[in-house]
Amino acid sequence: MSGRIFKAEGLVLRTRVLGEADRLVTLLTWQNGKFEAVARGARKTKSRLAAGVDLFTYGRFTFHRGKTWPVITGQEPIERFSQFRDDPDLYSYGIYLAELTDRMVGGEEPCAEIAQLLLDGWSMLGKNTERFLLCRAFELKLAHVAGYSPHLHSCTGCGSEKAVSFSPRQGGLVCSSCLGTDHIKMDPGTAAIARRLIEAPLAQANQVRLTAAQKKELGRVTAAFLTYHLDLGDIKSRRLLNDY
Ligand SMILES: [Zn+2]
Repeated sequence: MSGRIFKAEGLVLRTRVLGEADRLVTLLTWQNGKFEAVARGARKTKSRLAAGVDLFTYGRFTFHRGKTWPVITGQEPIERFSQFRDDPDLYSYGIYLAELTDRMVGGEEPCAEIAQLLLDGWSMLGKNTERFLLCRAFELKLAHVAGYSPHLHSCTGCGSEKAVSFSPRQGGLVCSSCLGTDHIKMDPGTAAIARRLIEAPLAQANQVRLTAAQKKELGRVTAAFLTYHLDLGDIKSRRLLNDY
């Protein structure tokens, strides 16, 4: 970020109240990674900035470098995902994708691939895509892009292709000889589905067919993997989703 004025295309991940009338907005941008910026006067009813800095907004922003935080001086919303604010269930899913991304991205290094993934995720949610598979695909792809892809081709311990379980601690499949205390059943069909969700574009997640048992395994494996291997701890918004 050189110069006093800079522009970036980004997504509003989070906003919080700042002082009497301002908002502090957490943005995930294609060019400058994740950072906080002040939207001055955004809590006043007549503010021109207010609508452009709502949670979930995708837009182009202009900033002036401030003493503590950059100050948003201009905004041009491209998509506001306003349907998320009208539907509490959709809102929970939108927040979940935002919170997961927020926790995964550290600082101001460029992260165009992750920003695009979140934009795609919100867009798919807005199109009423099947939410269970969309969320699992999002989690797995996010981990993959961040460099923490689970090992899903063979046993992480010995390389055997007869892997029957998943170990969050070992970060992948394990065979019956290499089982630890933390293993979760994952049959080869479920592992193949997880690989497909990582490799295929997010828009194809709803084309995957899975049985009730595979759905349960996939949900348990991804939750345990994210919590343990990525050290994300408890993700509050996950509890609001109705498929856990
Ligand atoms: Zn093994």
